[in-house]
Amino acid sequence: MKMIILDRDGVINHDSPAFIKSPAEWVPIPGSLEAIARLNQAGYRVVIASNQSGIARELFDMTILNAIHQKMHANAQQVGADIDAIFFCPHAAIDNCDCRKPKAGMFDEIAKRFKISLKGVPTVGDSLRDLQAGFISGCTPYLVLTGKGEKTRETGGLPPGTQVFPDLATMVGALLKVNAAAAHIPI
Ligand SMILES: [Mg+2]
Ligand SMILES: [Zn+2]
Repeated sequence: MKMIILDRDGVINHDSPAFIKSPAEWVPIPGSLEAIARLNQAGYRVVIASNQSGIARELFDMTILNAIHQKMHANAQQVGADIDAIFFCPHAAIDNCDCRKPKAGMFDEIAKRFKISLKGVPTVGDSLRDLQAGFISGCTPYLVLTGKGEKTRETGGLPPGTQVFPDLATMVGALLKVNAAAAHIPI
């Protein structure tokens, strides 16, 4: 099984310092949903791992989060994209849970749920903690410069081997090109 694990805010949709707390505020980054469709066509299962501390902060509740994800699924479907599963951490940092990135809890859950090793599984994020959680789980980290990505690159300290791309669409283009070259199959 081929899998890719994506952060949500700042990777698939535009991020906001004021949190994404309604379906109206969830706006896809141009090309991101089409990139997910390309991943699906190449046989990838696309899974999201997302910190959503807005729930702990009571900025929005589960009903709203579900509505946001319904909008995301509907928008994805329109371009033939399928998101297999969404894992999220509803806690705040102060809760000291095991699932909030940079901890690996959500990645462990993904491995368990899908019964796969995450070794070498590509993971894409715009924050250092996304890449750290993926890296300690054995994933190959990719930083995108959308969302908080530019700032994350400036701050540095990225896990070894992190590859940097302008956005999800270019990252996916490069990933599928490498795959195709490895398999000697033209895209
Ligand atoms: Mg993010
Ligand atoms: Zn958590």
